[in-house]
Amino acid sequence: MRSEFDVFIVGGGLVGLSLVAALRDTGLKLALIEPHTPDAVPAEGSWDSRVYAISPGSAAFLERCGAWQRLPRERVTRVEAMKIYGDDTHACLEFGAYDAGLRELAFIVENGRLQHALWQTAREQARIYCPANWTAVEFGANSASLTLEDGAEIAARLVVGADGADSRVRAQAGVAVTPSEYRQLGVVANFSCEKPHRGVAFQWFRRDGVLALLPLAGSRVSMVWSIAQERGRQLAALAASELAAEVESASHGALGALDVITPAAAFPLRLQRVKNFTRPRLALVGDAAHNVHPLAGQGVNLGFRDARELAAVLTGRGLQHDCGDHALLRRYERARKEDVLAMQFTTHALQKLFNNDVVWLASARNLGLRLVNWQPQLKSFLVHHAVA
Ligand SMILES: Cc1cc2nc3c(=O)[nH]c(=O)nc-3n(C[C@H](O)[C@H](O)[C@H](O)COP(=O)(O)OP(=O)(O)OC[C@H]3O[C@@H](n4cnc5c(N)ncnc54)[C@H](O)[C@@H]3O)c2cc1C
Repeated sequence: MRSEFDVFIVGGGLVGLSLVAALRDTGLKLALIEPHTPDAVPAEGSWDSRVYAISPGSAAFLERCGAWQRLPRERVTRVEAMKIYGDDTHACLEFGAYDAGLRELAFIVENGRLQHALWQTAREQARIYCPANWTAVEFGANSASLTLEDGAEIAARLVVGADGADSRVRAQAGVAVTPSEYRQLGVVANFSCEKPHRGVAFQWFRRDGVLALLPLAGSRVSMVWSIAQERGRQLAALAASELAAEVESASHGALGALDVITPAAAFPLRLQRVKNFTRPRLALVGDAAHNVHPLAGQGVNLGFRDARELAAVLTGRGLQHDCGDHALLRRYERARKEDVLAMQFTTHALQKLFNNDVVWLASARNLGLRLVNWQPQLKSFLVHHAVA
């Protein structure tokens, strides 16, 4: 028998799950398909080396979705200040939440705990196919249809591609994508630290990449080091004590002695521009629609803003009953393009500016950091843009 839905979401990552949660109480018939069974509740003493800097705007969205309040409070760490250093360590740019009239600049949350909170919320809202896979999607005039691996056929007014950077939905819909590899890995690991972090997120724009140490509960920090592939593979393979020594030295001992508490893992980094976020009966969200360098910690925040906007367009569609109507979906695309292009431009430009050896550029970028640091109004503008 053919099942019918209003919205069929392909991909149960953070963004797809948040869209399900955002569409609660809309009366829309929702379904979600995800090939991987979600991980069990993370054990209390364990730490996930994959963490996200979640903007206050995204946190407010997740709270409206009913997911944020499911996170254990003691595992949500407020970022109260940021210190960004150039390759000349005297060049420093500092942002403080207090100076900008905010309570915090961001929250640091572990991936596993956020996934778990969103799964709990999504399960209450949608028909979930998981673990399950699909073989084909077709977009017709009045509905789209998805064929599951077991042969079952599902019809929906709208299919949402939330299946990540290598989106199969996007490929099958024939949406053009321009990938460009950074030839870098994002190496992540958690450490306990000797000196207190005081809610400060540290970032070093080094010639070999960008090193970030983000505050975690207690005297712990989470590292994201974006670095050339070969060097990244070497770092990830180091013994715990050697890795701690490398990070201690690269961070100029800012947090004193470090001890590894979660082993290193590495993720490939790329920039991906997708020409259209919508087609008739199709909308793309999250990494399926855009991929950015993690140096600004904004990838999933962009995705949450996609989910927030798409949910707002679908909820406010008035007399237009058809969720897959392209004129309606284009409203979503128009609303999201500028934010996404600006973030892709900024992160790409920063990555290129710092990831090269041209001497005059090295002086200019360090001077640039100092100049921005002396401009309170410009700093306030940057902060208010980042917390959206
Ligand atoms: C090292 C690193 C650090 C980062 N740090 C930050 C940060 O601090 N802040 C931030 O905002 N962002 C950060 N990001 C970016 C962030 O990780 C991504 O933007 C985010 O995970 C994208 O979420 P998503 O749900 O769109 O995609 P994914 O997380 O890729 O989820 C896609 C889901 O779709 C499923 N799927 C795949 N194929 C199919 C299919 N064919 N059918 C059905 N389902 C499918 C997958 O199993 C998965 O569950 C970082 C990225 C990296 C690499």
